[in-house]
Amino acid sequence: KRIGFAIVGLGDLALNQIMPAFGSSKYAKPVALVSGHPDKAQKVAAQYGIAPKNIYSYQNFDQIKNNPDIDAVYIVLPNSMHEEFTIRAAKAGKHVLCEKPMANSAEQARRMIKACKDAGKKLMIAYRIQYEPHNRLAMKWARDKHFGRVKIIELANTQNAGAPGQWRLKKALAGGGSLPDIGLYCLNTSRFILGEEPEMVMATVYSTPGDPRFKEVEESVLWQMHFPSGALVNATTSYGTHKSRRYRCYADNGGWFGLDPAFDYQRLQIEASQAQGNLEVKQSPDMGEKDQFTLELDHMAQCILENKTPYTPGEEGLQDHIIMEAIYESARTGKPVKLNKIDKPDAFR
Ligand code: NAD
Repeated sequence: KRIGFAIVGLGDLALNQIMPAFGSSKYAKPVALVSGHPDKAQKVAAQYGIAPKNIYSYQNFDQIKNNPDIDAVYIVLPNSMHEEFTIRAAKAGKHVLCEKPMANSAEQARRMIKACKDAGKKLMIAYRIQYEPHNRLAMKWARDKHFGRVKIIELANTQNAGAPGQWRLKKALAGGGSLPDIGLYCLNTSRFILGEEPEMVMATVYSTPGDPRFKEVEESVLWQMHFPSGALVNATTSYGTHKSRRYRCYADNGGWFGLDPAFDYQRLQIEASQAQGNLEVKQSPDMGEKDQFTLELDHMAQCILENKTPYTPGEEGLQDHIIMEAIYESARTGKPVKLNKIDKPDAFR
């Protein structure tokens, strides 16, 4: 059996990445669409062989509860709408795969986790990097101490934000600026690589005065995190510089490794360098191409089929929100912020 997904929101990511990714999926299929634009939904439905009766609007969304074709929803809406549609989906008896960032706050994330728990439904946050083979190899190298113990990770995810009018630059819809949108990759990936949670963060936020894009949300965030093993993370995100998406892990035993690009949809590259005698020997394994969205969809579908907890459950998204709130607090107060340990479900890490 394949798990039937309703795609909620037919924007750039849904149309250009997620819908095509179903084509190579083994366990997931698109069976319904939820959109504010009926014409667009009809066109997309025809393109992917979805029955016209399975097109819903944001208003009649709750009727999905009467549709046995739909096992799960994939929420691909602006961030502020994730909470509402997760809770409505859970109440309709459907599992939820929700795009990152999970929500606009830790408080919203907690309500989403509770709604899915109360309904007995699974909740997964779409952290595609954690399913992507190059990034998974970096995680394995770090955790196996392949080049020694990782002491420092440096990460950057930057790009130029486009026109000022878009939802990503409105605080109410996006929750914040570069940090929750693209800085989140640096935060989530460093936690994933290390397999531990930061104890302390320190941050700076800056927006260019007079730039119309940054009236409501921040342009750049630089932050550091300290982890219990002693590992240090230095992260950079910006909506005001040319695109760069990379990281490097520095290990203590004569080696480093990392990805550049690290967070793109395709053509990721992993590179490592290790001392051999007096030589510094580089390797860059060719790992081929796998569609990250297919891997992520198949993981969610298999968790539903086998009744397992997703590798990136709601608690994973909540933890990032807790840390992002600490990052903003540190930037606001000019002081380091300590973080409490969280309780992790068994499948988490
Ligand atoms: P988008 O603007 O292209 O699409 C958003 C969709 O939501 C559109 O179809 C729009 O019509 C609809 N919508 C409904 N109400 C809206 C409102 N009030 N304002 C604006 N749009 C509204 O955005 P996107 O790039 O597809 O992003 C959607 C979600 O996916 C976001 O949460 C984003 O963070 C996430 N995303 C994830 C990745 C990834 O790699 N995992 C990449 C891009 C986006």
